[in-house]
Amino acid sequence: MVMMLLPPEPHLCQECATDHEPTAPHNPQSMYYEVKFRMEHGRAPTWEDAMAHCSDEVKAQWTTQLAKFGVIVGGNNDSEKG
Ligand SMILES: [Zn+2]
Repeated sequence: MVMMLLPPEPHLCQECATDHEPTAPHNPQSMYYEVKFRMEHGRAPTWEDAMAHCSDEVKAQWTTQLAKFGVIVGGNNDSEKG
């Protein structure tokens, strides 16, 4: 069985199928983003991956905000191996 990914609606981000600013991180909780990323990289995406395309300023802002929710970007959240 071949997994098919239908492209997101044109107004949505084509990476994660979420309505966000191009300068903002992708949505790592997006099913589309996870499946697409997994097909390309063989692992689940992390917040670090989701904001890899962002400016350092945006990364810093998100890293700070996420830390308030207990999410440490680039930390030990990449528990899945192989
Ligand atoms: Zn996105």
